[in-house]
Amino acid sequence: MPLYEFCCEACGPFEKFLSFGEAGGSRGCPACGAEAPRVYSMPGVVSVSAAERKARLINERGSEPKVVKKTGEAARPGPARGGGRPWQIGH
Ligand SMILES: [Zn+2]
Repeated sequence: MPLYEFCCEACGPFEKFLSFGEAGGSRGCPACGAEAPRVYSMPGVVSVSAAERKARLINERGSEPKVVKKTGEAARPGPARGGGRPWQIGH
């Protein structure tokens, strides 16, 4: 059952678990009994704000250079340094 948010003018917002058929319109406030109109904001959508979407995009972008760096590291003559000039390191 989805959670719906309502907002009483006197008491403020409250949440109720309702079936899809019951969700329409207003609901009686559990505190004062007044008709409280439904607030059309899905729980969870609030957390996925524009800022978070932007942060996710940056995070996705940030992972790309990581992969490029890894391949670049492998292309570096790191192992060749040890095996390329063994006569200088050894006696
Ligand atoms: Zn109320």
